[in-house]
Amino acid sequence: MITVLRIGHRPDRDKRITTHVALVARAFGVDEILIDKKDSELERTFLGVCERFGGKVNIKTGVKWREALKNWKGQIVHLTMYGEKFDAAMDEFDRDGDLMIVLGSEKVPREVYEMADINVSVGNQPHSEVAALAVFLYKYFDGRPFKNFEDGQVRIIPNKKGKTVVEN
Ligand code: SAM
Repeated sequence: MITVLRIGHRPDRDKRITTHVALVARAFGVDEILIDKKDSELERTFLGVCERFGGKVNIKTGVKWREALKNWKGQIVHLTMYGEKFDAAMDEFDRDGDLMIVLGSEKVPREVYEMADINVSVGNQPHSEVAALAVFLYKYFDGRPFKNFEDGQVRIIPNKKGKTVVEN
C-alpha cells in the first residue's frame, strides 16, 4: 500500500496543484491520497477523473496529518529539498511493506522531518511537489510506474498522431 499525504493544502490557492499531486499519485499507482484541509470540490474533481478513466484510488481531505503520521505502520518518506538524494535513498525502502510519501506546501513543520523515517530530495533546489512526486515514483517503481486502469468509462489507445479513445 502506498499513500501520499499532502500537508499545508490551502483550498483557495492550491486547488489546482493539489489536484495535480493527486492525479500524478493515481497515474503512478498510489493507492490512497490524504490531504490535510477539507476540500470537497477537489475530492469531487478527482473522483470524476477516476470514474471516467478508471482506478479505485481513495482520496480523503480534512485529515489530521499528525495522527496520520503517528498511526502509519509502514515507512514514511518526506520529500524535501533538504533531504538525502533520492537515488541514493532507494535501497532504504522495504518494497514489501507500506509506504507513506509526505509532501509539503509552504514551510513544513520540523516535526514532519523528525517523524519521517527518511527525508529525501529530488535535487537540492526548491521546485514543485508535483515534480518531486513524479520523479520519486518513477525511480521507486524502477522506470515502470504507469498504471493501466481497466474499469473506466473510457480507455486511451496510444497513438503517434491524434487521439484514440475507446468507450468501455
Ligand atoms: N521550502 C520548501 C521545502 O521545505 O522543501 C519548498 C516548498 S515547495 C513549493 C512544496 C513542496 O514541494 C515541499 O514541501 C516538498 O514536499 C516538495 N519539494 C519541492 N522541492 C523539492 C525538492 N527539491 N526535492 C523534494 N521535494 C521537493
